[in-house]
Amino acid sequence: MNPKETVKKQIKKYYRKRVELFRLIDKIKLWPSRKGVLHGIKIIDKMGDGARITTHCNKTFMVTNSRNSRAARWLRNKWFEGVCTHCAVPEWKLEKYSSTRFKRHYGSLLLNTDEKKGFVEN
Ligand SMILES: [Zn+2]
Repeated sequence: MNPKETVKKQIKKYYRKRVELFRLIDKIKLWPSRKGVLHGIKIIDKMGDGARITTHCNKTFMVTNSRNSRAARWLRNKWFEGVCTHCAVPEWKLEKYSSTRFKRHYGSLLLNTDEKKGFVEN
């Protein structure tokens, strides 16, 4: 990893608290394991209400698209015990992750434009 690749300026990203888990992991490409180890996501295969996630360390598991799941909560609160050495999550990504904020009534829901039409909130 080239150290010059670091992000010049940290821009805070805001996402809604109720953003869907899949949209969130699609965006940040990180996954906290049950033990609190942060893995880098290589592939997300969506299938119905679930998705098969493949990490960079080649672990594969199924997850459901729940905003209230353990993983969603961990991601929103940015809890993690450590980072997977095999996935080698780069420093800038972790910084980006920790500068991400979740607000109740502010920020992106990461919806695409079509879905935004007719979408009413508050
Ligand atoms: Zn890993």
